[in-house]
Amino acid sequence: MMSDVVYVGLGSNMDNPQEQLQEAVKHIHNHEQVSVQTCSFLYESSPMGPQNQSNFINAVCQLNTSLTPIELLDFLQSVEQLHGRTRVGERWGPRTLDLDILLFNNLRMDNDRLTLPHYGMADREFVLVPLFEIAPDLIMQDGRRISVWVKECTLDGLKRLPIKLKTGEFSFQ
Ligand code: ATP
Ligand code: CA
Ligand code: CA
Repeated sequence: MMSDVVYVGLGSNMDNPQEQLQEAVKHIHNHEQVSVQTCSFLYESSPMGPQNQSNFINAVCQLNTSLTPIELLDFLQSVEQLHGRTRVGERWGPRTLDLDILLFNNLRMDNDRLTLPHYGMADREFVLVPLFEIAPDLIMQDGRRISVWVKECTLDGLKRLPIKLKTGEFSFQ
């Protein structure tokens, strides 16, 4: 049963970001233990950290899965690798694809490999705004509504694009 509800943040600022995100959603959906339920619009955001890089394209998707959190992380990291993600250079430098697990049900965990909920949500408008778009009733880990988190976050030039990733059945080649 794919009954666990997971929100994943997607980001790219290299090699046709929109296509990177769309291909990533296809790859994720094609896993037999994962189903992509909903995707937000695409958003354009200024880079965190090093400023001498292109703007990012971001989105948030809701998945259902029967994988454990670590199995899902392994799988998402394998998708990053397929997209040529390299872990060299500065923190928060340019990348073809970044897939972060934002929420996994209401699970809290904190070990070497995985922190849940994702530690960076509160001050990342490019995560909170698309998450709010697809899950406006979420109660965050401090017991407050996501709308309150969005209000308290600097929007920082975030721009919603009139484009949504395709979900549903793919026949992936
Ligand atoms: P940030 O984590 O600040 O968004 P980043 O996405 O650039 O930065 P990465 O290099 O992609 O960082 O990931 C570093 C490590 O973070 C990964 O190897 C993974 O083990 C760990 N990690 C911890 N919690 C999570 C999570 N919720 N989702 C994805 N990776 C996580
Ligand atoms: Ca990240
Ligand atoms: Ca990451």
